[in-house]
Amino acid sequence: MTDQADEQALERVFARVRVVLVGTLHAGNIGAAARAMKNMGLTRLYLVAPADFPHREASYRAVQATDVLDSAVVTATLAEAVADCSLVIGTSARERRIQLPQLGPRELGRLCLVERGGEEVALVFGREDAGLSNEELRLCHWHVHVPTSPGYSSLNLAAAVQLLCYELRMCALATAGALQSPDWDEPLATVEGMERFYEHLERTLEDIGFLNPAAPRQLMVRLRRLFNRVRLDQMELNILRGMLTEIGKVSAAARRGGSPNS
Ligand code: SAH
Repeated sequence: MTDQADEQALERVFARVRVVLVGTLHAGNIGAAARAMKNMGLTRLYLVAPADFPHREASYRAVQATDVLDSAVVTATLAEAVADCSLVIGTSARERRIQLPQLGPRELGRLCLVERGGEEVALVFGREDAGLSNEELRLCHWHVHVPTSPGYSSLNLAAAVQLLCYELRMCALATAGALQSPDWDEPLATVEGMERFYEHLERTLEDIGFLNPAAPRQLMVRLRRLFNRVRLDQMELNILRGMLTEIGKVSAAARRGGSPNS
């Protein structure tokens, strides 16, 4: 057990962290995940299109964590659940299947708990049968894989939640709450801001003939990976959006055969 001052420091850091369960099939797993979270001091649960919720089995398995279920936020899509986040970590039962930078569970805490002006962090878990879709993974900056015995790498969903919440707790305790943040003068861009930027970028690249909608190849996937690796701040995002707007004007004017300001 931790003393009260430690626990308060943990509450402060964990207030920025949400656990997101996507498309959970078994209500019992939702309850067990809520319990696993509360045991480790995390309380913010998001459920994306759960098959069965609320459900008696979820409450039963949550035991004393029914408050986590009661305050759970239910959304239709992962994009909605993480719209205001600036760091999204996906989890996967398989290694290297995913074209995203990979983290080990021990490195997770360092990345999630760095305080940068209250940025919101999401830890995302997939469906029991199929994990996360490629589209869902595209919203993630990193993915974490718990190194298991290679013969059987797929953990029970709630067990995966337990392990990763435990790693967050251990890191938070070792660093007495938040880690020292590198000085940064701007808040980081959110998922919602980045999604609007990607739409704008795709439209513009089509406009200028760089992206052929009939044969897009992997261009947008690769560009998403590039920008996710950098993690733009809001000012940088505004600059890029401004540049795209101007490029759009020039290309519209070129199509009309005049100057951009005519
Ligand atoms: N057949 C699915 C298994 C999903 S298990 C697949 O191969 O993707 C359900 C969820 O539990 C996963 O989406 C992931 O969020 C989590 N999980 C299971 N095993 C894991 C592991 N070894 N490391 C990290 N997360 C894991």
